[in-house]
Amino acid sequence: MKAIRFISAILFASALCLSCKEDSGRYFQPVDYVNTLVGTQSTYQMSTGNTYPAVGLPWGKDFWSPQTGKNGDGWMYTYDATHIRGLKQTHQPSPWINDYGEFSIMPVTKRGFSEDERASWFSHKGEKATPYYYSVYLADHDVLAEISPVKDGATLRFTYPERDTSWFVVDAYKGGEIVSFDENSIVGYTVMNHGGVSDNFKMWFAIRSEKPLTFKQIDPENSLAIAGFGTHKGEKVGLTVASSFISKEQALLNLERIDCGFEEAKNAARDRWNEVLGRIEVNDNDIDHLRTFYSCLYRSVLFPRDLAEIDASGKTVHYSPHDGKVHEGHLFTDTGFWDTFRCLFALMDLVYPEKAAEVQEGLVNTWKESGFLPEWASPGHRRCMVGNNSASVVAEAYLKGIRGNYNPEDLWKAVTFGAHNVHPKVSSTGRLGHEYYDSLGYVPCDVGIKESAARTLEYAYDDWCIWQFGKALGKSEEELAHYKKASENYRNLFFDKYRLMAGRRLDGTFAEPFSPLKWGGDFTEGNSLHYTWSVFHNPDGLKELMGGEENFIAMLDSVFNIPPLFDDSYYGHTIHEIREMQTMNMGNYAHGNQPVQHMIYLYDWTSQPWKAQMRVREVMDRLYSATPDGYCGDEDNGQTSAWYVFSALGFYPVCPASCEYALGIPLFKEVTIHLPSGKDITISAPGNDRSTDYVRSVKMNGHRLKGSFITHEDLLDGARLNFTVSKRN
Ligand code: CA
Repeated sequence: MKAIRFISAILFASALCLSCKEDSGRYFQPVDYVNTLVGTQSTYQMSTGNTYPAVGLPWGKDFWSPQTGKNGDGWMYTYDATHIRGLKQTHQPSPWINDYGEFSIMPVTKRGFSEDERASWFSHKGEKATPYYYSVYLADHDVLAEISPVKDGATLRFTYPERDTSWFVVDAYKGGEIVSFDENSIVGYTVMNHGGVSDNFKMWFAIRSEKPLTFKQIDPENSLAIAGFGTHKGEKVGLTVASSFISKEQALLNLERIDCGFEEAKNAARDRWNEVLGRIEVNDNDIDHLRTFYSCLYRSVLFPRDLAEIDASGKTVHYSPHDGKVHEGHLFTDTGFWDTFRCLFALMDLVYPEKAAEVQEGLVNTWKESGFLPEWASPGHRRCMVGNNSASVVAEAYLKGIRGNYNPEDLWKAVTFGAHNVHPKVSSTGRLGHEYYDSLGYVPCDVGIKESAARTLEYAYDDWCIWQFGKALGKSEEELAHYKKASENYRNLFFDKYRLMAGRRLDGTFAEPFSPLKWGGDFTEGNSLHYTWSVFHNPDGLKELMGGEENFIAMLDSVFNIPPLFDDSYYGHTIHEIREMQTMNMGNYAHGNQPVQHMIYLYDWTSQPWKAQMRVREVMDRLYSATPDGYCGDEDNGQTSAWYVFSALGFYPVCPASCEYALGIPLFKEVTIHLPSGKDITISAPGNDRSTDYVRSVKMNGHRLKGSFITHEDLLDGARLNFTVSKRN
């Protein structure tokens, strides 16, 4: 164990040399630029990210977060709050999906243990929030609380005042139970969830105190344990916490394996973050951009979460939320592919291919354990959003050369099954309306299936992905004919009269009256102006439908030029995504939600790529920052962050499974991506500053590029991209 840690430390150290060159004159390492509070200044009505300051390990099984909201409130930490109720273990992907397997620990020094009574005033000035370490001064208890993550758990440290009543409360939440409580340890479980779990779902936790617990009290009605001791002034007491989805025994085993103290845990977590974030090394002196970039990269490597634990024999195993059993291998969850298929997995496949291989293995396991690939998982299948975009995530990884401990043929079976079936209980898994889609080439808007046009457009792209995946696997033309043909189904929804996509009735007529400004209805969290561009795999086909390049450009321009008018009648109130569009001063462009996030790059399919460059810069400049209101809508499990990461690099995967990237304009003077293969991708734009928004020319490996596209293959070999940039006159 120790030897392994020592070797890892050397590996981390060598990785760090790459990411923090002394001659660059920077004192900071990548993790030092991250602000985990970005996006926390959010409300139900207006999201600036809807995030919480997750302290954990990249793709970790559990995160921890300070808790300001009441138990069960999806807004677990909000920047404007004044009180903290506990340090909470969390698995929440989004406030809209809420949490599962959560419990909290709160140091206290006076009586009153309920979540309201124990809550303490705090200030952001008494708080330090990083990915590997969080601390806060809890004023009402005069306690400094610190936390750092370790695999399957965390180390906590409380600095108490001189008091006979230096305690901490363990809150197992409603329905949870403390099952054992002795002088050094507390063991219990939480049953909290919001669906997507088997009946036997429990998360076990085990807490070890380095100081003997002389005060012990259980409040079974409120699922609380209160433990403590007397302390002298400034006494630091360490707690080690581990958890398991598998069993009490596994939780105890996970605890036993945590054999480091607080400082060691903190340093190891810091090293791990620097290793992961340091894969992308930025050489630039714009501190604001560095902070925004690394804060976005942090968000891009949190999810999906790996549920895997290591059993007593050393095997990687996971509790399956699908069948309630324990199986071998990885299982990833807490991501919605409707959001994240767009560019999060492209980032993972390029920069973290070893993790991408584990994710694909996890997808095979989800398929085997539940009969379907996930679409929105947390931890099991959840009813949320539309599409069958697991096909994109699977095809993209295979086509980009990701291989691992699984058989791609299983994924082929999974995607082709999912294309013609719908989950019996979770209608957003598989394809709702597949019978109509397969016979008519679209899901009609008048057969009781909501958001039918969004489904059709995404299914058509998904079919293209399946076709490409099948070709790469060597499937016969006969087997692929259906998917090839279905990939053009977006044409069935093109309403020539408006040059936009529209809902279509069973009888073949288009739904009228038609409003391009209507959110929802036949679309999903967007309007026709946003969704029309969901022809990721064939922008030229869309251009042709619109009547050629001139019209295509005019339609793209119109999204920015039409004022932010909207029809929210489908929802009956102005959903936050609409409000975020309305307030950004970009017309009807709605970067705060995912459907339109690739749209700007479609200018690359025209003679006016400069409009892509200009708009990309505008979005990066105005809509992102490393402040608590730093996003322009829900961050959504890395997707909105990965958009910034790619855009700052200077390219974007408009069609993820095509293995092609559309060029924009890089943000920094120089960036190097250190691929794990040992090859480097260097992107330089020496003339870059805040005024540059125009690309004069691009060279790759010394040769001038003719078009606005590069391929994944170009990058994998290692590449030097040199952008000549200037201000557009
Ligand atoms: Ca969203």
